[in-house]
Amino acid sequence: MTKEVKCPQCGKPVIWNKDNPFRPFCSERCKMLDLGAWAMEKHYIPGEPAPEEGGESSSNDTDSSNM
Ligand SMILES: [Zn+2]
Repeated sequence: MTKEVKCPQCGKPVIWNKDNPFRPFCSERCKMLDLGAWAMEKHYIPGEPAPEEGGESSSNDTDSSNM
């Protein structure tokens, strides 16, 4: 008796058996893709810091009127 499921990643029919280490995915690639998408949702994308203004702005302009 074989059970068939659909790969959550690509939608291909996958034979569900214990020997398939990638189940319910059809392949390692789909498994990794899904895990990657999940990880990205959780941690967002590292690297680009959010550009937030309101830190140190150059308040050097008002100083030159003191001459
Ligand atoms: Zn797949």
